[in-house]
Amino acid sequence: MRQALIIGNWKMNGNLAENDELLNTISKSYDSNDEIEVVVCPPSIYMAQISQQLLNSKIKYGAQNVSANRNGAFTGEVSTAMLHDLGCSYVLLGHSERRCLNHESDEQIADKFSAAVQAEITPVLCVGETLTQRQSKETFLVIAEQISIIIEEVGIKGFEHAVIAYEPIWAIGTGETASPEQAQAVHAQIRRQLAEHDLNISKNIQVIYGGSVNADNAKALFAQQDVDGALVGGSSLNADDFLNICKAYN
Ligand code: PEP
Repeated sequence: MRQALIIGNWKMNGNLAENDELLNTISKSYDSNDEIEVVVCPPSIYMAQISQQLLNSKIKYGAQNVSANRNGAFTGEVSTAMLHDLGCSYVLLGHSERRCLNHESDEQIADKFSAAVQAEITPVLCVGETLTQRQSKETFLVIAEQISIIIEEVGIKGFEHAVIAYEPIWAIGTGETASPEQAQAVHAQIRRQLAEHDLNISKNIQVIYGGSVNADNAKALFAQQDVDGALVGGSSLNADDFLNICKAYN
């Protein structure tokens, strides 16, 4: 049985005071709830603050990016060892904003995925198609390629302790969400692809959906057989909205 997973991606938002308030409210409500795994991904600069604040909490935290390199002359980068040092257990990889704005290639994402697996930090691989690709019926192909390159470089066992987030690019931050049926179709396809390599991994991996998830649409998405939770951007910045999404799982 796969555990439900809700991840909040704070993107480049927050400050010391706001983070404090947001996490206090979320953790008060969440800690009594064992059913759902909750993860927050703050900007890396606040990781020390978040690690202190979540010291006695079951809420986990992750980074929004990591370097594929171990250490050295990589100005501005953060390594997996640094994240590990601060108790960070997840890292988002291949988010469409990094693919598009930072021109991250599938190969670079595969290198980061490999570094995360080696450091025992759970990679959350984000995959998804543009609107044009969906309209041209290329969705499955695009996503299969984004996953294939990781399997080729890291091997299928790399997915043993990984999460996949299906995030259609046209749904991120737009207020438009994939229908539950559209999400289910892609999630099932992802599992079929993984099953060609390893049946257990395909059955056990958490595949979560991201793209304008809110308290109103979460329930129908979560009702889908292969949707194990959500990667939440905008709605993760408001404690009530985020908690209502978590409640929708129950
Ligand atoms: C995201 O950033 O991963 C995301 C899904 O954002 P939003 O929920 O705002 O669409």
